[in-house]
Amino acid sequence: MTDELLHHWALHLLDEESVRFASERARIPELRKAQDARLAAERRKSEANAKQASELLARRRALERDIAAFEAQEKKYRAQLDAVTDQKQFEAVQHEIAGVAGKRGDLETQVLEILATEEKLAAERPALDASLAKAERETGEHIAKLDADDARLAGLLADLDRRRTEAAQPLDPAARTRYEKIRATRGGRAVVAVSNGACGGCARNLTPHAQQDARKRDRLLMCDGCGRFMMLPPEPLPPESAAGG
Ligand SMILES: [Zn+2]
Repeated sequence: MTDELLHHWALHLLDEESVRFASERARIPELRKAQDARLAAERRKSEANAKQASELLARRRALERDIAAFEAQEKKYRAQLDAVTDQKQFEAVQHEIAGVAGKRGDLETQVLEILATEEKLAAERPALDASLAKAERETGEHIAKLDADDARLAGLLADLDRRRTEAAQPLDPAARTRYEKIRATRGGRAVVAVSNGACGGCARNLTPHAQQDARKRDRLLMCDGCGRFMMLPPEPLPPESAAGG
């Protein structure tokens, strides 16, 4: 295997690692959004309960004012009742009293219905509060972890960038430019392994002739499908050599 191939293989390994970390990092905004959505959903549930409770309270207060007004009216009629002298007037005032009492009764029924709903909402409150507090705590922790992951991956990628610059040093400037250009336009992968007779970048099969060329391991091949450099991985060292011989 030539030095040129070994240098490119080193770049290949760094690129693969970078692509893996970069794709892991690219998922972070989506994961963060999911946490935000969970928290927003809990907040909406809690706010809907509070909003309904406050609307019902306002409605009940208004009804209670109307009830008080009917009560005052009824009291006035009862006072009139003491003053009337003839039967006809007496019946007329009693008719008024019955009318006001009927209206008051309707409103009181509404108040009772509202109170029942208010009680139901109040009973739901502790669970909603607990669920919101839990969501705040958990999403907070999760987002802090995502932030830490993001920083860690950014660090790893910066380190890989440094190592890539170093690994590209031995290449002649034209080869380096070519490598960088392909890398920039092919999703960060400029050099791929030939695997099972196909390009490791786009899976296009090599011709038997190209496979033969690859086996020679004396120069980089170029994929007709994706335009990346291709090569067979360096051959593993024989066992006696790996053992330190
Ligand atoms: Zn390809």
